[in-house]
Amino acid sequence: MIPALMPTYNRAPLSFVSGTGAWLTEADGRRFLDFAAGIGVNALGHAHPALVRALTEQAGRLWHVSNLYRIPEQEALADRLTAASFADTVFFTNSGTEATELALKMVRRFWHGEGRERHRILTFTGAFHGRSTGAIAAAGPGKMTDGFGPLMPGFEVLEWGDHDALHAAMDETVAAVMVEPIQGEGGIRTMPPECLRGLRELCDATGALMVLDEVQCGTGRTGRLFAHEWAGIAPDILLVAKGIGGGFPLGAVLAQERAAAPMVAGTHGSTYGGNPLGCAVGAQVMEIVAEPDFLAEVERKGAAMEEQLSALVAAHPAIFAGVRGKGLMRGLACKMTNTDVVAAARDAELLVVPAADNVVRLLPPLTISDDEITEGLARLDKAASALAEQGASA
Ligand SMILES: *Cc1c(COP(=O)(O)O)cnc(C)c1O
Repeated sequence: MIPALMPTYNRAPLSFVSGTGAWLTEADGRRFLDFAAGIGVNALGHAHPALVRALTEQAGRLWHVSNLYRIPEQEALADRLTAASFADTVFFTNSGTEATELALKMVRRFWHGEGRERHRILTFTGAFHGRSTGAIAAAGPGKMTDGFGPLMPGFEVLEWGDHDALHAAMDETVAAVMVEPIQGEGGIRTMPPECLRGLRELCDATGALMVLDEVQCGTGRTGRLFAHEWAGIAPDILLVAKGIGGGFPLGAVLAQERAAAPMVAGTHGSTYGGNPLGCAVGAQVMEIVAEPDFLAEVERKGAAMEEQLSALVAAHPAIFAGVRGKGLMRGLACKMTNTDVVAAARDAELLVVPAADNVVRLLPPLTISDDEITEGLARLDKAASALAEQGASA
């Protein structure tokens, strides 16, 4: 018999009852160190006092009015986001997937407005943009699309890192290129800054819109507010979600004026998008994360973590192949099956996330302390030693 909860997830047999900072308490009392952060969502850890205050104060005042009316919290967060980034304008969603959907609609509408219909959107292998029909089509045929056809047309999936394929595909029929500066689900695969700059140049030369998906790598994760800042470029459209809500469902599409110009009244909407609760929390996240000192700390701690991860890889060459990523978005490429490493880490009371390319993802809260990083690495070392022992006795 099918369970009451539709069984679309392979869930670990853990249920957490409370959390503070980088720590989660399981129903049985065990305390787990959280290097998963709800898949990069709990940017400020669990139960951050400023976020609890922002949410409860707003909850006591007003939850929802709809976008039929002005929402001051939404306007304030839009002001904050545009002031801190390349963007001229923002649309708020409830999730990353909804941000993807709007970006796709904006690309179509842009070219419609230009009077020159362009329908080709280039994406890359290993991409993840969400689970809607449009988002799975964008990432290309595979596990996520199996049985869900016919797929939304218009996408061409290029091999990640294949410059020749990109140059061959780029011409004046391309509507947009959509890419994650660092692939999350795809295995913490980083697009080098010079490649992001090259892509920007190709987009400028052909007129194609550059759409960056920073749902996972944005909101301070790499030590800049947005990962593309490392390359010194700006996209036309940017997708944000996960960390921006600190755990409250919130997403956003940030755009330059030109790309958003055709999105006039009536072209898009959302009942909950930009609701007062989400925006009150998002403003507080921005208040903390967009501070240069905070971002510098993320960069410093990320470098410290990379150093310790490299030592871990060197100590366990049969288990790990290398370290990837930037800031506090890190991947351990594995020689063993990554899900076995994740399970062993769980036995050592450390939460990490598997990703494609046989990678274990480490996405600790951005507020993690140096001691907690060291403790997490000790737990990973313990997990790796346990796996090596099992391997030796098998
Ligand atoms: C998680 C994620 C999404 C989808 O976001 P949801 O909030 O799950 O809809 C899209 N793009 C990237 C890069 C993501 O990591």
